[in-house]
Amino acid sequence: MKMRLINVRMNIKTTVQIVRTSFQHNEGGIESQSHIFFNSKIFIMKQNTKNRNQTRQTKTASQGSRNRMTGSNGSGKQESLLEKFFTDQLKDIYYAEQQLLKAIPKMAQASTTEELEDAFNDHLRQTERHVKRLEKVFQLIGKNPEGKKCEAMDGLVKEADSIIKETKQGSMTRDAALIIAAQKVEHYEIATYGGLVQLAITMNLKQAADILDKTLLEEEDTDALLTEIAENYINVQAEDEGNYSWQREEEQPNDEQTSNSLATYSM
Ligand code: FE
Ligand code: FE
Repeated sequence: MKMRLINVRMNIKTTVQIVRTSFQHNEGGIESQSHIFFNSKIFIMKQNTKNRNQTRQTKTASQGSRNRMTGSNGSGKQESLLEKFFTDQLKDIYYAEQQLLKAIPKMAQASTTEELEDAFNDHLRQTERHVKRLEKVFQLIGKNPEGKKCEAMDGLVKEADSIIKETKQGSMTRDAALIIAAQKVEHYEIATYGGLVQLAITMNLKQAADILDKTLLEEEDTDALLTEIAENYINVQAEDEGNYSWQREEEQPNDEQTSNSLATYSM
């Protein structure tokens, strides 16, 4: 029989004492009993531990639940939660790239300037390669290429559609707005590919990391090119297309506006 005394000091006024006694059954099981003294009150806890064979069975059962948690594929190999997340993210971006194969031609066709149209068409060809590269990565991890609905990309594509509907055909404002819509898409892709590259490196999937990194670089280059196109002349020419009132008010403030502003700031 073993006896163990555990003192736990809760705070100045409260002291908890636990006295645990245990003894072994003939059949190998262990019975333990704890007396818990809590501010002069005694609580008794009894616990029966099963014999060794039963313990092994318990371990096997808990191992089974671990297999379910990590998604055992039944072939003896276990898929970790990180591997599952990596595959999910691959499916997400595979779906996203396929939506872009349909969306980019519409954006190119709607563009006002040739420069933006060419940039979209060039990126369409890159996007076709992005899909092929993802298929290669699926192959490397022994999975069939499969897309998983990505609400975020669906939303971004919808936003680009709305811009085409809401802006005037042939206007520079449309190009300025299309560039922002396209950059939102690129930033989503950069975030996803950036994360996938890092996860692939962490999981020692060197070839997959190299492939995903190629696409990441192209997405970053596209983002930079779109910024360049916007800043070269499109934003400035869009500015000339219509009157806008905000700056005029700032440039020619009358006395009343100035005193109103001051009143607001002093609140
Ligand atoms: Fe892409
Ligand atoms: Fe892209």
